[in-house]
Parts: sequence; C-alpha cells; structure tokens
Amino acid sequence: MTRPLRLAVNGASGRMGRALLDLLRADDDAELVYAVVRQGSVDDGQPVPGAASSTLRYTHEWTQAPPIDVIVDFSGSAALRQALDHCLAHGIALVSGTTGVDDHLAARLADAAGKIAILRAANFSMGVAVLTRLLREAASALPTWDLEIVEAHHGRKRDAPSGTALALGQAAAAARHTTLETPTVFDRSGERVEGSIGFAVVRGGDIVGEHQAMLIGPGERLELVHRATDRSIFARGALRAAHWLAGQPPGEWHLDDVIAGLR
Ligand code: NAD
Repeated sequence: MTRPLRLAVNGASGRMGRALLDLLRADDDAELVYAVVRQGSVDDGQPVPGAASSTLRYTHEWTQAPPIDVIVDFSGSAALRQALDHCLAHGIALVSGTTGVDDHLAARLADAAGKIAILRAANFSMGVAVLTRLLREAASALPTWDLEIVEAHHGRKRDAPSGTALALGQAAAAARHTTLETPTVFDRSGERVEGSIGFAVVRGGDIVGEHQAMLIGPGERLELVHRATDRSIFARGALRAAHWLAGQPPGEWHLDDVIAGLR
C-alpha cells in the first residue's frame, strides 16, 4: 500500500489505546483517522493529542467514521461488539487484543472471519508467542509432569485468569491431546487431581503482565517465564499485525502468521 494505512483505535483512551496512539505518532506508514472511547468518558469529544489531523476528536460512536483500512481494538466486550458491527458493515479488517470475551461474542467473531480479515491475540508480545511454542514442546515431551500456570497483573485488570494464561493452558492441553475444559483447575484447595492444569492469579500495583508455566516432575522442575515490563510491546505487536492484516483476504488470522511473514 503506497498511502499510509488508515487506522482506527477502539478503546483509544485506555492504557493500551494510549500506548498505540504514542506509537502511531512515530509511524509514517499509518495514520490515526478515528479514535473511539466509552460514552461519557472524560475524553469523549476532546481533541486527540498529537493526531495527524488537528480536528480529530475522541468519539463514542462509529456512525461518523471516515474510510478505514483496519480497526485496532483494546477495549471490552461491549465496545468490541460495536467495532465488529462497523467492520462487517464496511468490510474493514479487525485486530483485537480484548480479552475476557464471552462465548457468544467469540462465536460471532469466528463467524465474521468468513467476511472480513480478523486477527485476535490474547497477547501481542513476540516473547509470549515464543513462550507458547516452547510450552507446547515441553508439555508434549513431558506428558506426565504436573502443569501449573501462574500469572500476575495490575489490580485494575478485569478478567482472571488472564487471556494469555488461558491461551497457554490451551496450547499445553492441545499438545497433550486434550482440551482445556477437561483438566482446568482454578481452586487449588484439596489434593491435586492427576492430569489437571492449575491456574493461579496475582493482582497488584502496576504489574504490566507476567506468565509462568511450571512443569513439575519427580525430583525436578522446568519453569518457563515471560515478564512484560512495558505495555508498548503489545501495542507494537498489534500495530505490526495491523500493517500485515491490511493485505490479507477474509479469514481468522493468528500472530504466528504475522511472525512467519516477517522471517
Ligand atoms: P483500559 O480499561 O485501560 O481501557 C479500555 C478502553 O476501552 C477505554 O478507552 C474505554 O473508554 C474503552 N471502552 C470501554 N467500554 C467501551 C464502550 N462500551 N465503547 C467504547 N469504548 C469503550 O484497559 P486496557 O488495559 O487498555 O485493556 C483493554 C483490553 O485489552 C483488556 O481486555 C485487556 O485484557 C486487553 N489487553 C490485551 C493485551 C494483548 O496483548 N492482547 C495487552 C494488554 C491488554
């Protein structure tokens, strides 16, 4: 694409939205053309700081949106639903990092991939993408070892365990030819059930995001850990995914596809 990518951000005044806007200011190949926030939020109607167009204001609805190539979403289920409707109505590609999505919305997103290009990831960090691969390999090479996943985040995170912790559990379960529904345990009171995958959650302070997978065998333990110290890594991954997704046909795409395209 020769002109800059026309990008809209859903959840633009949130922690991730702000990180995205910071990156976009330095990206000559993408232009922020629309910035959506929650109705009634303090930013609603205010000018978007540093936007290429001085007239761009935060808004809470999609009806006035200009032509858009990709919507990047880091918001919540209700906001994602509205962004998805706009994507479907106008054939716009969607990159979404929103976690804690309910089953109904997840099914709608999967269905929408028949009409538009969609890329969702519970974690846009390249390090977590590699951690997931390593965990798959370890879980399959050590099929009888107990597996526990511990995650830590700041106290304002709404969903628990994190989408990333669940995605790690799913990857490990699939590597052991089972599904996460079967072995998942969120409450570790009482004895450990053989073959279960346990999740533990820490919330506090300003922790950006930490994930640890522990494979515990008799007399030894393997630990795989990822620590995010700056949320710009997620924004960078999502922006990279947006540039990549703009050229793709409709379908359900994954971060691994983007990484493969970068090699
Ligand atoms: P936040 O609470 O700081 O921001 C949420 C944003 O969504 C705000 O701008 C808010 O105004 C907006 N919003 C909420 N309801 C809305 C509505 N109905 N309509 C329009 N906008 C609405 O949250 P955050 O830390 O930026 O995280 C947002 C989401 O991204 C969460 O689900 C979080 O778990 C996820 N996340 C994903 C990754 C990843 O790499 N995939 C990384 C960090 C966070």
